[in-house]
Amino acid sequence: MGESSYVQSGAKNSKIYERLAAIVGSRYVSDSEAVLYTYSEDFITFERSGKADFVVMPKTTEEVQDIVRLANREHIPVVPWVANLSVGALATPREGGIVLDMRRMNKVLEVNEEDQYILVEAGITYADVVGYVNRHYPHLRVPVTYAPPATGYVASSLMYGMTDLSMAYGDASYFVNAFEAVLPTGEIIRTGSAMSSPHWNHHAALPDFGLIGLFIGWAGTTGIVTKASIKLYPKRPYRLDYFMDADTVERGFKIQRELARTGIIDDIASNNWAWGRVEAGEKLPFSEGRRPGEPELSSWVSFTANTEKELEAKDEIVKSITEKGGGKLTLFEEGIKSFSKGDQIRYFKYLPVQLSNDISGARGGRAQWVGGYAPPSKNAEIYRAVEKVYDKYGYTQAGHPIQAYNRLMDHGHEGIIRYNIFGSKDDSPEIVEKHRKCLREIGEVMRAHGTILYKAPPYFARLNWLGTDPAAMNIIRTIKKILDPNRIMNPGQLDF
Ligand SMILES: Cc1cc2nc3c(=O)[nH]c(=O)nc-3n(C[C@H](O)[C@H](O)[C@H](O)COP(=O)(O)OP(=O)(O)OC[C@H]3O[C@@H](n4cnc5c(N)ncnc54)[C@H](O)[C@@H]3O)c2cc1C
Repeated sequence: MGESSYVQSGAKNSKIYERLAAIVGSRYVSDSEAVLYTYSEDFITFERSGKADFVVMPKTTEEVQDIVRLANREHIPVVPWVANLSVGALATPREGGIVLDMRRMNKVLEVNEEDQYILVEAGITYADVVGYVNRHYPHLRVPVTYAPPATGYVASSLMYGMTDLSMAYGDASYFVNAFEAVLPTGEIIRTGSAMSSPHWNHHAALPDFGLIGLFIGWAGTTGIVTKASIKLYPKRPYRLDYFMDADTVERGFKIQRELARTGIIDDIASNNWAWGRVEAGEKLPFSEGRRPGEPELSSWVSFTANTEKELEAKDEIVKSITEKGGGKLTLFEEGIKSFSKGDQIRYFKYLPVQLSNDISGARGGRAQWVGGYAPPSKNAEIYRAVEKVYDKYGYTQAGHPIQAYNRLMDHGHEGIIRYNIFGSKDDSPEIVEKHRKCLREIGEVMRAHGTILYKAPPYFARLNWLGTDPAAMNIIRTIKKILDPNRIMNPGQLDF
């Protein structure tokens, strides 16, 4: 457990407990050690744990306002929380205070079919949003990530998630039209079209001040989003999904970029051979390296169409580009026939999905990745540089070779690539320290190749800031000071 607890005195704590109970009702506030323990870390990564003083579950925006006003007056940290499954421990309470568990704020408030958006409360999960849309609007779809069903829909959009529509449109923040948020001083702010109209259909209103950007990428350090409007899309009736294998990452990433530029693909994601094996349920350490004929990069390519003819035309383009690039396509339905029962990839089409093999208890139950927005043209170069880091730390030799995953977005304008280390809950402190060191070095190598690290825990956030334009940094710090003068919002994250 971490050392820091913001509210030091027991007497003061019990007064604050009473005030919190007066706001949300005693059922929805806790300071019990057992409850606090469940919020003390993410139980996945090698990030250090923290310790909150209280967990509170508000139901309304007004309750959020009352809690924040109290916290601001008393200088108590507030950490918005949905599942803490960012794989960067971004909702671990690093300096104590109040964990604001948003999960009671889980309603769908409006679905506007004509203007194509869904307005939701900020604690709603992927499972609830997708379930709701599938049940009531089966002809529509919302963008979805590979994050577990219990993770926050809005939380993911706030942190630049990658979705199954991101190749066509951009990262998850692109899908947000407008927010309602409670500022650290307790005022409510609305952004996008909702700031000057009753409609939640667009991200820009008046001159585009980009107010949405006050909450995206800030890891809960500028305020608490309470509502968000997310874009909806028609579910096109025709769809094809392929596995696209390439013998080298150089070839695989190149084909990905060429497919991206066609403007006809919804989603391209990939695993390298080693992460693919993990998804397939194979245990680490591996007893052998890459097998003869095993593709180095295996991509998932998905596209949709309004008519059969349109699908056929798109299919022709995909086949031609892949063939010219030296890749191999296998239809999803064919591919899964050869998959074993435990192979997670067979479920990739049906989101949200529980990728339990990613962080499997059977294999030890710990993993952490470091990743970021790399220039897509640099993916192969970064891969080779990172491969050397796994070798240097002895992972490859011990049967834990490089684990890479990438997703290309917005027609190839942006993309995320990330590298994982799998560990065990039984790892000794020395081994955990080695995992941390290796991840940090991977982060440094990625930064040296122009990558901006995303969903970055403190060490990695610092790496980002080190290379950030000082004038931009100055503005970021000024905005933070204006919005959160008492530094109560998720302190210790982003490491300002
Ligand atoms: C197996 C696995 C697969 C994954 N695959 C993907 C993937 O394909 N694509 C992808 O993008 N991500 C993926 N993720 C990452 C992750 O799940 C997302 O970041 C996640 O959806 C975030 O939701 P959460 O509920 O865990 O957020 P939390 O960790 O609870 O919150 C994230 C951050 O936002 C802040 N926050 C939360 N709610 C609010 C609010 N209302 N207002 C302001 N700040 C707030 C928190 O303080 C924290 O800093 C994956 C994770 C796992 C474990």
